[in-house]
Amino acid sequence: MNDTADTLMRGIAADAPFRIAVVRTSTLVQEACRVHALALGGAEALARALTGLSLMAVMDKDWYRLSAQWIGRGPLGTINVDVRSPGSVRGYLTGGGYIGPVSAGLEGGTLSVIRQKEGGQYAQGQAELVSHDVDGDLEGWMRQSDQLGTVLRVLVHDWVEGQPRSVTGVMVQELPGADRGDLEGAVSSSLLDRSLTPQGLLEELAASAAPGLGTIDWLGSTPLAWDCGCSAARVERGVKLLGVAEIDEMISLGEEPEVRCEYCATVYRMDLAALRRLKAELLAAG
Ligand SMILES: [Zn+2]
Repeated sequence: MNDTADTLMRGIAADAPFRIAVVRTSTLVQEACRVHALALGGAEALARALTGLSLMAVMDKDWYRLSAQWIGRGPLGTINVDVRSPGSVRGYLTGGGYIGPVSAGLEGGTLSVIRQKEGGQYAQGQAELVSHDVDGDLEGWMRQSDQLGTVLRVLVHDWVEGQPRSVTGVMVQELPGADRGDLEGAVSSSLLDRSLTPQGLLEELAASAAPGLGTIDWLGSTPLAWDCGCSAARVERGVKLLGVAEIDEMISLGEEPEVRCEYCATVYRMDLAALRRLKAELLAAG
């Protein structure tokens, strides 16, 4: 692994009541911008959502899959992000053509979060969108759900032709027992206002983002990657659910369905031969 690979690291301060996670997502965000043809505001909004949710996921010991939806009323539309263990990240937004500032793109709405455990049990919750900056809504979610002071910021920098080349994120959370106000003193103002420009290793980013934490004991790191998980086989299973009669009708009308995966923009085309094969499989299965 090199210094610029997408990675998430988490740790605890050796001598202060805080835990921290830092992440670099530059490569997976570039892939998201490429497949969804995003620029400027749309690119920044999805970068903040992908990166912020990755930070939030890893803070949960039992997480298996975490999904979040920002259902905004503004031109960014709805932002969908999904993070699966150990480090697969994907997402899209319905207002992908938006090029204005992120702060004007949501105009309120609802944040919906689904947290799934390995056995399939899941919990769902909702909150009002109030931050107007995407990652701030995740910070608010963490403060509310954990009842602990939390700072979560995504730093999006090095713009080239409307797309960011450097995307990192930092989350610092109080541990039980911290005094109110400690957190504000522990993080730098350049993290809070997102002007901090990351340089070098993630450990160095942590030191400049949260100087008040002092020495950090790093507990582990996780490689992250843009990975949708969709496949032709999955799409075929979906078409099979339509049943023999429906598939028969498509065959007789000469319809060759196209199924587009919203998350990664892959289009799966199913020709008549494939439809006949699916029909035969359904009939054989009785
Ligand atoms: Zn896909």
